[in-house]
Amino acid sequence: MEHRSVFQRASLFVAVAVVAAIFAGCVQTPASKGTGTEAAALYKAGSYTAVATGMGGDVKVQVTFSANAITGIKVLSHNETPGVGDVAVKTLPGKIVSAQSLNVDGVAGATISSKAIFAAVEECVKKAGGDVEALKAKKAVVQAKAADVVQTADVVIIGAGGAGLAAAVTAEQAGASVIILEKMPKVGGNTIISGAAYNSSDPERQAKTAAAAAPRRP
Ligand SMILES: Cc1cc2nc3c(=O)[nH]c(=O)nc-3n(C[C@H](O)[C@H](O)[C@H](O)COP(=O)(O)OP(=O)(O)OC[C@H]3O[C@@H](n4cnc5c(N)ncnc54)[C@H](O)[C@@H]3O)c2cc1C
Repeated sequence: MEHRSVFQRASLFVAVAVVAAIFAGCVQTPASKGTGTEAAALYKAGSYTAVATGMGGDVKVQVTFSANAITGIKVLSHNETPGVGDVAVKTLPGKIVSAQSLNVDGVAGATISSKAIFAAVEECVKKAGGDVEALKAKKAVVQAKAADVVQTADVVIIGAGGAGLAAAVTAEQAGASVIILEKMPKVGGNTIISGAAYNSSDPERQAKTAAAAAPRRP
């Protein structure tokens, strides 16, 4: 009986070993399954162009994609306001590329130009087979808060528009130290987009000018 039992146990061991060997030959190892790290391509690589309407008309944008990233955005042509809309043209493409996201802040004061760039980039993402909604849903990039700065000056001017800048120059010329604070990402305020028409009324001086002697309409 004892001999038989040992034989049976030995047979069972051999059978288990054979079955294990057969399975070892059939079952894929994790290595042969693949690492699981190969991501599906997000885009059809290449360059795509699209046009959207900004403040001054067409904004033409070219977006370049690799299989998994937005690698470059160029504004090929635009007619946005110098000093206002073109701030978005210069800065927004870089922000989108570095965040790989459409959930980045537009440029304050240049909302329409920013929207045009976003719209054109979205169109290019669609053309490249990308997922616009996923890019919009990406967590917003929170910029680190700038460190507090403590400074003193004789004159502090709030607002770097025409009035503020003129006051700053006058104060500086009078020997004062000046600090100008501006809330927008650019200086110039409304002054920078004004038509530059100069409306004045000075009857005493006007009466002496050639314009005063000019024939008038009946
Ligand atoms: C489209 C347009 C065309 C125009 N054309 C003419 C024209 O042909 N001739 C004419 O005489 N006038 C024109 N104007 C009007 C003229 O531009 C304004 O009267 C003039 O620019 C006002 O100058 P400002 O310095 O008082 O204000 P702004 O130039 O507007 O400057 C104010 C500044 O203060 C900043 N500011 C506001 N609050 C804060 C805060 N809490 N902290 C920090 N900064 C702040 C603003 O961002 C801005 O930069 C025009 C205006 C517009 C909008």
